[in-house]
Amino acid sequence: MTCEGIYDLVIVGGGPGGLTAGIYAMRAALKTVLVEMAAPGGQVNLSDSVENWPGDVHVGGTELGLRMLAHAQSYGLEMRSEEVVAIDPGLEFHTVRLAGGGCLQAHAVILATGGNPRKLEVPGEKELYGKGVSYCAVCDGFFFRNRTVVVVGGGDSAVEESLYLAKLARKVTIVHRRDQLRAGALLQQRARAECKIEFAWNSVVTCIDRGLDGVGSVRLRDTLTGAERDLATDGVFVFIGFLPNNRLVPAGIRRNADGYVVTDEKCATTLPGIYVIGDLREKYARQIVLSAADGCTAALAAAHYVESRKAAMECTLPEA
Ligand code: NAP
Repeated sequence: MTCEGIYDLVIVGGGPGGLTAGIYAMRAALKTVLVEMAAPGGQVNLSDSVENWPGDVHVGGTELGLRMLAHAQSYGLEMRSEEVVAIDPGLEFHTVRLAGGGCLQAHAVILATGGNPRKLEVPGEKELYGKGVSYCAVCDGFFFRNRTVVVVGGGDSAVEESLYLAKLARKVTIVHRRDQLRAGALLQQRARAECKIEFAWNSVVTCIDRGLDGVGSVRLRDTLTGAERDLATDGVFVFIGFLPNNRLVPAGIRRNADGYVVTDEKCATTLPGIYVIGDLREKYARQIVLSAADGCTAALAAAHYVESRKAAMECTLPEA
C-alpha cells in the first residue's frame, strides 16, 4: 500500500475540537490535514442556538461551525472530505487508512470523532425512524408544527430541544425516568415556565406505535408502580445521551467502561503520538468550549511531540 503523503499531523473529525486543533496546528507550522466525512462542525450543526460559547450571547450552531471552519482555513488548513476506516499505529509513522483505498502517514494523529445519539432500543424506534422518530429537533422539528411531540430524556439536550420544539409544536411532553431533571438549573427554569411543556415523571417509553401517518402513540411504563398507559403523540424525539464514536480507536489504547478514551492532561493516549479530544475523551462535561480546549491542548502537545520525533530521527540517520 502506497500512502499519498507524510504529514506532521492528521486530524480525524471536523467538529469544534478538530477545527480548533487545526487552527493551533497551522499556527505551530505543522504540516496538517483534517479528514471529515460529513459537514464540518459536527454535532454543533444540530444545535439551533448556542448560548454558552464565550463572547457570543447567542449564536446559531451551524453559523458557529462555519466560523470555526473559516478560521482554520484562513491559515491554509488542508481539508479532505473522506471516511477514515482505520488507524494503524506504527513505530515510525502512524497510518490513517481512507475508505477510497488511499492512506495518509503522520507522526501524530488527533482523533476527534465525537459521539452518536444513544438509542432507546424499544420496538417501533427503528421502524419509525424518519417517520416521527427523530434524534434532532433542529432537523425535524419543522414537520411537527402545531402537532404534539414526546421528548425522552432529562438532560441538557432533552430540555434545550424541548424548548426549541415548544416554539413549533402544540404540546411537548418530556418523558423522564426519574422525578428530577439532570439538566442545568437555568434550562429547568425555562422549561417549567413554558406553558406548552408538560412532564411525565418516573416514566419510560417501552414501545412506539404506528398511527395513520407515522408515529401514533408511545407506551409508557411508570418506573415506581409498573403501571402502563398509552400517550398519543405525532412525534418522538430521543435525547438520552451519546455513545462515543470509538470505532477507529486502535487496540491498545485505554478506554473506560463506557467506551470513552482515557487520556492524560495533554489528551495523549497510551500510544505515543495518538491524541483523543472532545466527546470521545473521558471527561467531566461535554461542552463545545471543552472540545475546543482539548483541540488546543492536543495540537500544542502534538507539535512538541513531532518536533522531538524529527530531532530523534535526524540523530539516527546514517552519515552521508
Ligand atoms: P446526558 O446529560 O447524559 O443526559 C441523558 C439523559 O437521558 C438523562 O436525564 C438520563 O436519565 C436519560 N437517560 C439515559 N439513558 C436513558 C434510557 N435508556 N432511557 C430513558 N432515559 C435515559 O446527555 P445529554 O443531555 O445529551 O448531554 C450530553 C452532554 O452534553 C452533557 O454533558 C451536557 O451537559 C452537554 N450539553 C450541554 C448543553 C448546554 O450546555 N447548552 C446542551 C446539550 C448538551 P438520568 O438523569 O436518570 O440519568
